[in-house]
Amino acid sequence: MRAVDVFVVGAGPAGSYVSYALAKRGFEVFMAEKRPEVGVPVRCGEAAGSLAELEHFLPLSDDWIAGPIDGARLFGPSGVRVERHMPGVGTQLHRDRFDQALARQAVEAGVELQTSLQIDSVGAFEHGGREVRGRNLAAAGAPFRMRARLLLGADGVESLVGQWLGLRRAFPVGDVHSALQYLLDQVPAGKRYIDLYAGHAVAPGGYAWVFPKQNGTANVGLGVHVTAKLRRSARDYLDDFVRTRFPDSRILDVTAGGVSGPRSLKSMVTDGAALVGESGHTNNPFSGGGIMNALESAEEAGVALGEALRDGDLSARRLRDYQKRWQARVGRTNDLFFKLRNLFFRFDDHEIDWAVESLQRVVAGVEQNNVDYTGIFRSAMLEHPKLVLKAARALW
Ligand SMILES: Cc1cc2nc3c(=O)[nH]c(=O)nc-3n(C[C@H](O)[C@H](O)[C@H](O)COP(=O)(O)OP(=O)(O)OC[C@H]3O[C@@H](n4cnc5c(N)ncnc54)[C@H](O)[C@@H]3O)c2cc1C
Repeated sequence: MRAVDVFVVGAGPAGSYVSYALAKRGFEVFMAEKRPEVGVPVRCGEAAGSLAELEHFLPLSDDWIAGPIDGARLFGPSGVRVERHMPGVGTQLHRDRFDQALARQAVEAGVELQTSLQIDSVGAFEHGGREVRGRNLAAAGAPFRMRARLLLGADGVESLVGQWLGLRRAFPVGDVHSALQYLLDQVPAGKRYIDLYAGHAVAPGGYAWVFPKQNGTANVGLGVHVTAKLRRSARDYLDDFVRTRFPDSRILDVTAGGVSGPRSLKSMVTDGAALVGESGHTNNPFSGGGIMNALESAEEAGVALGEALRDGDLSARRLRDYQKRWQARVGRTNDLFFKLRNLFFRFDDHEIDWAVESLQRVVAGVEQNNVDYTGIFRSAMLEHPKLVLKAARALW
């Protein structure tokens, strides 16, 4: 059986970037992607970090940049809003071409990428490695086997690799938002801001978004918190939202998916294996955004796991350096966002309006690009003591 240094499951941003990082360090890396074409179909609002942040991970290209994001507006249920001009704070992507550019960068660094290859199981860590089994969907399901010193699960939101390794479980109801998004045309031209709408009539336990793309198109979507009490589907809410705000637009494309906002994993690593990107619960639990987090976790994995491979120690103890680096860079902040998200779920519409009003005041008083999000919640709670009780229940 063929053996490689590293086997990566999934060619999303996390998989492609960690593959690239390890190939650059001289390791033989094989990356399997079950879809026939990397990045297709797109399941994303396509909003990511600034150009400077993106350029850290791959050379910029007009091919995958749809345009800048120059600010944000947040609307509360009563229409109260907060607006912030932040030129170039983010970038709207063509996510399919972005994922393909990352995969190409990996291949150019020496990574072997096989598409239409679905991984179905992984073996125990023995004889210094793991066996990976799958099937080639482009060849009538022909069986596939390979051995690797290190296995990386970068298989996204519902990661089966994480479940096979015993590092995570399938999400219970309540831990995932059901998200639906339309690509609309004839969206009135305006500032290149991302618009977010909160409130129980719009998106219970979540929010709706309008992210402008190109030529009068925009990604318009929402995520709702799925609970037993929820009587309507994400589609019902999105259709209402679009009918009221964009009555003249046509739906050019539809995207549906789960957006996770889970707490950090107890462990992202085990003997001879680790989880990278959303499979390792790296998404921002509050916003559900995960592109930049996937890349950042992949970068930390590249450094720490590269050192472990070089030293020939792939024990869970040694691989934990990766998790420590991730926690220091983003994970600890994510833990706070997880608590804030639980608090947000308990807000009624009045409380959401109060939070938006507080945000207005905080934003007016701080420098651009320097918003203290926890400060927003703190001041909202001080002004509205009723919130303190809810916060106490949610945060501790
Ligand atoms: C509707 C929606 C809107 C979103 N909007 C945004 C946004 O605007 N901004 C943002 O930052 N984030 C957004 N996200 C989240 C973001 O898309 C993810 O966090 C991000 O894609 C995570 O990257 P990843 O590389 O970890 O996983 P993924 O991009 O999901 O990549 C995982 C890859 O693994 C492959 N795979 C899975 N299982 C197997 C297997 N068994 N064998 C082989 N291959 C396999 C998949 O096909 C996939 O290509 C959104 C998500 C949804 C659903």
